[in-house]
Amino acid sequence: MFDRVIGKSDLTDSLDNLAERYRVVAPVSEGTRYRFAEIDGARDLDEGYIPTALPPTKYLRPPRENLITFAWDDEIQVEPVFDQSDFILFGVRPCDLHAIRLLDEIFDREKDDGHYQARRLGASIIGVECLEPCDEHCFCHAMGTLEAAAGFDLLLTDAGDGYYVRVGTDKGRQLLTELSGAREAVYEDRRRLRKIHARRDQAFEPRLDVEGSQIPALLADSNDSLLWDVLGEKCLSCGACTNACPTCFCFDVLDDLGLDLKSGTRYRTWDSCQLEEFAMVGTGESFRQPRDMRVKHRFNHKGRYLVERYGMPGCVGCGRCGRDCLVGIDPIGVFNQLKGQPVERR
Ligand code: SF4
Ligand code: SF4
Repeated sequence: MFDRVIGKSDLTDSLDNLAERYRVVAPVSEGTRYRFAEIDGARDLDEGYIPTALPPTKYLRPPRENLITFAWDDEIQVEPVFDQSDFILFGVRPCDLHAIRLLDEIFDREKDDGHYQARRLGASIIGVECLEPCDEHCFCHAMGTLEAAAGFDLLLTDAGDGYYVRVGTDKGRQLLTELSGAREAVYEDRRRLRKIHARRDQAFEPRLDVEGSQIPALLADSNDSLLWDVLGEKCLSCGACTNACPTCFCFDVLDDLGLDLKSGTRYRTWDSCQLEEFAMVGTGESFRQPRDMRVKHRFNHKGRYLVERYGMPGCVGCGRCGRDCLVGIDPIGVFNQLKGQPVERR
């Protein structure tokens, strides 16, 4: 058993020490919003944050990521680009830890994507449990993502005067040596943790009228719902929802050719299924030209296709998309309307 308990001032000192020696990324506040950014010490971070505008997964799959450099003279030379730098990702919430598990499944185990694997290998992830809902948009409890059993190296739980620290990996066990002042957890600490979890579970009132596990079936039954027409009328096709989503992973691959026309960089950038050109083919047709088709696709991709393919939630209930949508398209409202209304069929 490696669980530890660390006092709050000891954790502050440990973070200051870590930030002196490593790149540490953590949530910081910016006006009324929050974002993950590099910090110089514990004074920079805001541990009471609600989900950041962009998810922490942006450090594992950045908005723009160089894949190869190329050049040719007599013959072509191609060099792959891998970012293998070590960093600590501190303060990741359980919903985002579930998102990281899904990305690991896709990019590491299924696709064997070396660029993702290099960044993932360099990341040490320290999660922080949520003890109350972030705001009215989150629904992690319904999606089964309020608890995280994996995806972290260390997981902290606020226990009042200190933090209970759980270890998820060997890397996490190594990280324990960086937590000065931490002591081994004893029976009383574990009892206290169970009480904290019981209180937490009471704090998360149900927000969905459907069980998370029933969402794939609900979506399959709602293929012809008129609600998609209504949402298609409202949606601006701005792509803000997919940019904010920790489990969205679609990308475009482009070349940046140098002025010498003999060298350049191939990179990938985030793409969005909510943009009209996303499903456009070379001859100009778009397979999802109507907006309602694109909105329906997004909800099915999150709530159904990913679950069917990987057996884990494709939507982790972080609420970012609902929080950011200018016209108020929020998964809580969408799932509840699909469930509750005798929706007219097309
Ligand atoms: S954020 Fe809202 S308006 Fe923009 S694409 Fe997503 S659902 Fe449509
Ligand atoms: S679909 Fe929305 S609520 Fe679900 S994980 Fe993505 S951003 Fe979060």
